[in-house]
Amino acid sequence: MHSSAVAALLEPLSRPALIGWLREEDPARLEQLWQAADEVRQAHVGGEVHLRGLIEISNFCIRLCAYCGLRAPNTELIRYRMTEEEILACAQQAHALAYGTVVLQSGEDPLLSRELIARVVRRIKQSYPLAVTLSLGERCAEDWAAWREAGADRYLLRFETSNPQLYAKYHPPRGSDRRSRIEMLRELRSLGYEVGSGVMIGIPGQTYADLADDLLMFRELDLDMIGVGPFILHPRTPLAESDFRVFVPDGEQVPANELMTYKTIALARLLCPRANIPSTTALATLNRWRGRELGLVRGANVVMPNLTPPRYRVLYEIYPNKACIQESADACHACLRSRIENLGRPIGRGPGSSPNYQARYSN
Ligand code: SAH
Repeated sequence: MHSSAVAALLEPLSRPALIGWLREEDPARLEQLWQAADEVRQAHVGGEVHLRGLIEISNFCIRLCAYCGLRAPNTELIRYRMTEEEILACAQQAHALAYGTVVLQSGEDPLLSRELIARVVRRIKQSYPLAVTLSLGERCAEDWAAWREAGADRYLLRFETSNPQLYAKYHPPRGSDRRSRIEMLRELRSLGYEVGSGVMIGIPGQTYADLADDLLMFRELDLDMIGVGPFILHPRTPLAESDFRVFVPDGEQVPANELMTYKTIALARLLCPRANIPSTTALATLNRWRGRELGLVRGANVVMPNLTPPRYRVLYEIYPNKACIQESADACHACLRSRIENLGRPIGRGPGSSPNYQARYSN
């Protein structure tokens, strides 16, 4: 039996209701939010926790994103780019660990050419029954079409914030490309990718109303995958300078904390019941002890064990003190597996596409 509060949560959530939940502090009310999100997760994507092997293939980046430690002007960072053979070795490891998906992620690195990525995708798809997710930043439609042609299944591109002023300030455009990330997500969808996006929680200047709008945008875009995590300040970025930050009136700024991340995960689950939603590393960074588990019982159904060779992993520093950067892939796997088993949830098998995507292409 549902309490009436949980039942009310299963109705479509309005913008004021979302803002109310994001501001909610009462533990008993929040317990109802977690319960509703957990029930909706179970009903729509089941108990399985899908593992996606993350391979951070390059930390070179030509962009100036104000939040990210990989930004081009960060000359302190030692840059690396994995070779084709190194990437293939990680994919082999993913397969050996029975993962159904690999995620290739990088800074915006033009030397990851259209041809190179197409070849890597083709080789992975020919060698292993893995789904391939790409998260290589903003590229032209021709690159995305070529990679889809080569067999890539999914693309992740967070829109970061739906507030256009914040987005413009923190994410300077490059060259003459004026496509918004929202437009790019629509391009990716039209190419037949399973599409993922998301936002950072608590970037300076983000209000509760902004975060509610982000959540409504997830629904409007009908996302197949939703990744959200707390903003973590990197000292070598413009956001470390207080005169660069956008300030909003007292009481309006969303805090970049753990509780706000759980609320956002839970509300994303209620708005997009069939999406795949990871319990992210940024969340585990704020609570190494229980962050991943709490994400998984408050709406999430995916975790992304890191397969990047440790010598590179330490250099993929989008924010400092990232959780799990020292462990080998095997140690990372063993740790996550026992955490999931302790929750009493089965580990997903196969590619684990969102039922949302499956429904879109089933007739
Ligand atoms: N270049 C790719 C991948 C970026 S890293 C792209 O732009 O899509 C993946 C995500 O890390 C970003 O989308 C962003 O949401 C997140 N991120 C970047 N800097 C961060 C920070 N300081 N704190 C928390 N998350 C951050």
